[in-house]
Amino acid sequence: MNHRAFAIQPVAVEPCELPVVHERGQREVFCGLTGIVWLHRKIQDAFFLVVGSRTCAHLLQSAAGVMIFAEPRFATAIIDDRDLAGLADANDELDRVVAQLLARRPDIKLLFLVGSCPSEVIKLDLQRAAERLSRTYLPQVRVLNYSGSGIETTFTQGEDACLAALVPELPVTSGRQLLVVGALADIVEDQFARLFEELGVGPVRFLPARRAGQLPPVGAETRVLLAQPFLADTMKALAARGARHLPAPFPLGAEGTTEWLRAAAAEWGVPATRFANAVGPRRERAARSLAGARQRLAGRRVFFFPDSQLEIPLARFLHRELGMKLAEVGTPYLHRAHLAPDLAMLPPGTTLVEGQDVERQLDRCRAAAPDLVVCGLGLANPLEAEGLATKWSIELVFTPIHGFEQAADLAALFTRPLHRRALLSRGAAAPEAIA
Ligand code: SF4
Repeated sequence: MNHRAFAIQPVAVEPCELPVVHERGQREVFCGLTGIVWLHRKIQDAFFLVVGSRTCAHLLQSAAGVMIFAEPRFATAIIDDRDLAGLADANDELDRVVAQLLARRPDIKLLFLVGSCPSEVIKLDLQRAAERLSRTYLPQVRVLNYSGSGIETTFTQGEDACLAALVPELPVTSGRQLLVVGALADIVEDQFARLFEELGVGPVRFLPARRAGQLPPVGAETRVLLAQPFLADTMKALAARGARHLPAPFPLGAEGTTEWLRAAAAEWGVPATRFANAVGPRRERAARSLAGARQRLAGRRVFFFPDSQLEIPLARFLHRELGMKLAEVGTPYLHRAHLAPDLAMLPPGTTLVEGQDVERQLDRCRAAAPDLVVCGLGLANPLEAEGLATKWSIELVFTPIHGFEQAADLAALFTRPLHRRALLSRGAAAPEAIA
């Protein structure tokens, strides 16, 4: 195959004509506190102090594990029942906890006070608390706040809220630059940085940065590529600072990554041959790495419950690059502007559902009898017990899946549950087969 000719053909993108069913019923999702699990690994000198209940502390400990040997970079300040008169004490307690923490941990440069949904916490004004504490601890420590509350859309909204809280802190620049927004594994970030350098696109900065002191600047000449589809508030805040979003499919799979890079290349006026030389061989390698998964998944039917907000780009990848059929694509929130290029690449007739009414969706899922269900942890076990193969959508946020080099790993996340179920079925017929 001639990779040059292959790589320079852009995908035709039409406005989305697919109808969307809106559901507003009971939801089965994790709350935004979950984002701390990957954000604390990304921003290496940040600390996340959840102001919440024992439930919040349990969630964090079970999602992130308890670190026994390492110094943890998240914790929960537990606020018990108190009336409005007790709020002054709560603020004093918060100040005391923060003072203790920062005295013991001089490595912390950025402290997030993370709000939660218990009513006692909602009564507390964490923004004022963060401002008050920042006045005390700057320039050594910056204190910011955001909400990880379960009252919001779903668990990935925690990252959006966290990054949106960082935007007012970004320094100003008038220089032309590309800003890649969304927490990526360091290895993926490095791969993208090398690719942009080969393309001659730059300077390139990343939000969030790995360290609090490396916050990228922003200004009217900043162009933004979103790495994650759930960053609506962050993008809104960046646009208010003058930055402009470059519409593109999300960089999942060989095709998605090519088109994502192409959006930046087009903005920077990169010649077609240079683009083909840098991107073509990588794209070909990525496409080849998907061949085995395509053999296993082509023609199989996948059903998405709304959970990670990654559902639309994943559905596009599974359908176009692995040949899967889309039984239903549910997403907690559909940001049409950011998802337009991905939506335009879905096949006609795709059932799109925004929001959730979990009982009705479970009925539709059972009736559809898909080969694979992508859903939250709470639904996975019951559906497995009913004989359906499931993939936990939260794994898609914890695992490096972006870019060419990760395309095969992304595909493997979907082949593995089917393989496992096949082994289990064989084992049911002949138990020694999986012994
Ligand atoms: S923020 Fe709300 S939903 Fe999340 S763990 Fe705490 S109490 Fe539960």
